[in-house]
Amino acid sequence: MPLFLLDRDGVVVVNRKDNIKAPAGLKLIAGAAEAIARLNGAGFDVAICTNQPEVARGAMSQAELDAVHEALTSMLAAKGARIGRILCCTCECKTPRMKPAAGMLREALATYGARAADTPFVGDQVDDLKAAFHAGCPRILVRTGLGRRALEDGLPQYVEPVAVHDDLAAAVDAHLRNLAGRRDISPGP
Ligand SMILES: [Mg+2]
Repeated sequence: MPLFLLDRDGVVVVNRKDNIKAPAGLKLIAGAAEAIARLNGAGFDVAICTNQPEVARGAMSQAELDAVHEALTSMLAAKGARIGRILCCTCECKTPRMKPAAGMLREALATYGARAADTPFVGDQVDDLKAAFHAGCPRILVRTGLGRRALEDGLPQYVEPVAVHDDLAAAVDAHLRNLAGRRDISPGP
């Protein structure tokens, strides 16, 4: 089954300056759940790769983070959207697993037996694009969350090409349209 990888904050849920420490802090970005449901409908597994250093900093516990993710999974399921694994890096200092390194994305690819080149990663920060680059995944930046600011600051040349879309819904629609287009031009049996 093909795989689609998403950052969490600024892509699926609205960023909070004080981070999301409890289910009450979760607010879905408009259209995100419906976009994930469209991916599921097109046969995609969808997983999340998120840095959550607040745990190592002691600002929240692993149990609180788990509760947030259980609630997020339920909120999405209520809208017909199925999220598989939510991979988290809860370290505070840079590790090979933490974005902008590729470890967490590679772990997701291995878990699902997916090919990097066929697995887009959608993020709202340059570190997401760097992690996707190092993992060999196609890179998508959305303007939600911190995405607009990332574009204003400029993207490093080496992470190009980057597909830029207004939000996850637009990114998913463009991807599914592309796939359908490729099927149309492929030679028949
Ligand atoms: Mg983000």
